[in-house]
Amino acid sequence: MFKGVWEDGVPDLFGAIEAGGTKFVLAIGTSHDNIVAQTIIPTATPDETLGAAIAWFQDQRQLAAIGISCFGPVELDRTSPQWGYITQTTKPGWSQTDVAGLFGRTLECPVGFDTDVNGAVLGEYTHGAARGCDVAIYVTVGTGIGGGAIVNGVPLHGFRHPEMGHIRPRRHADDMEFDGICSFHGDCLEGLASGPAIKARWGASLSALADNHPAHDIIADYLSQFCATLLAFYSPQRIILGGGVMQTPRLLDRIKGKTGQLSKDYFAYDPQATIAAPNLDNMSGIVGAFELARKAIDDKI
Ligand code: ZN
Repeated sequence: MFKGVWEDGVPDLFGAIEAGGTKFVLAIGTSHDNIVAQTIIPTATPDETLGAAIAWFQDQRQLAAIGISCFGPVELDRTSPQWGYITQTTKPGWSQTDVAGLFGRTLECPVGFDTDVNGAVLGEYTHGAARGCDVAIYVTVGTGIGGGAIVNGVPLHGFRHPEMGHIRPRRHADDMEFDGICSFHGDCLEGLASGPAIKARWGASLSALADNHPAHDIIADYLSQFCATLLAFYSPQRIILGGGVMQTPRLLDRIKGKTGQLSKDYFAYDPQATIAAPNLDNMSGIVGAFELARKAIDDKI
């Protein structure tokens, strides 16, 4: 590969980045289903990781635009001088890091930028499990818990962006002793049901615990309370549950059943159809990043 432009001088390749707390997935292609180069680099310090990512892209062709689905919190207000920054994050060394601006300047192309979960819900809306939905939510349950909402094709931002993982669920009767691990709130949803919270209580990932271990019911209960809350707030046609913890066998079915119980048939929905796994597997964020890149060009026109 080389850096250059096509014969007619018009670059037609998009860059896409899924910037996560443990790894960055980088891709180049004309679209998500025609990726010509892809790589993964670990998330170390901003200098190392962003430097390696920029070097990788600079070894490829000139890009028409780049889209970034980024862990956060991030600044999404285009009028802010800090637009495209990771702001105050619990990830050591990454607070106040310019991400979007750095890629835009060094790769000399328009940048589309959003949260990781907004990128994922955008990907699922355009090509996956949320196609045709007026309102859909993507939730990741992994190292942290976060949710992105899309309304009529537009990811929801508001004042900054939703922080759905930090709601406070009612404590499960068999889980009253654990303090929770969220550094801000202790026993918020992320503090109780994220991958690290599960490990802190039971010393293993959920999928490594026997199917009859009480952890399965406790975690399903918290995530079901969350789903019932999302139904009450947004009336979504689809709630997509992704992330590492959701790989646990039977967890999705437990949540569907329990959400139905909690909802008491009050909401007009079918839990089997409304709550779903991602349709794009672990590609939701990258697919969304391609859409963000495409939108960055549309926004400029
Ligand atoms: Zn929290």
